[in-house]
Amino acid sequence: MEQLSGIYGHEAAQPEGFFYQDWTCERFTATEHDRPPMYEHPLYQPPAGKTFIWDGVIRFAGTETAFEHGGYLEGALSAAERAVSNLHP
Ligand SMILES: Cc1cc2nc3c(=O)[nH]c(=O)nc-3n(C[C@H](O)[C@H](O)[C@H](O)COP(=O)(O)OP(=O)(O)OC[C@H]3O[C@@H](n4cnc5c(N)ncnc54)[C@H](O)[C@@H]3O)c2cc1C
Repeated sequence: MEQLSGIYGHEAAQPEGFFYQDWTCERFTATEHDRPPMYEHPLYQPPAGKTFIWDGVIRFAGTETAFEHGGYLEGALSAAERAVSNLHP
């Protein structure tokens, strides 16, 4: 309540109700494949293994598209560097 009122004002500290959402039970968010615990990052790759798709019109830069260290900051950096490489203003 303190945090909410700090952000949204005093009225936010007087809620009319509470609604809890367990996203793991939301079928568009989580499936049975999300349930087993993950012990290590999977081997990520760019979509379809390609660095650029649609002739470079779309470039994926997230860590989940890295060739190495996907899921880590290092993967995010290399994927970002790859995505901006050869970009012309
Ligand atoms: C709790 C935790 C601990 C971690 N610890 C480590 C660690 O110790 N070492 C390590 O190497 N890695 C760690 N990681 C992983 C690391 O944080 C991520 O791999 C890295 O931040 C991914 O970078 P990214 O740029 O690919 O994606 P993100 O950092 O997730 O950036 C994606 C951005 O896109 C924005 N976004 C999403 N959807 C939209 C949209 N529709 N429109 C506009 N913007 C959008 C998001 O707000 C976000 O700013 C940790 C992750 C977590 C969650």
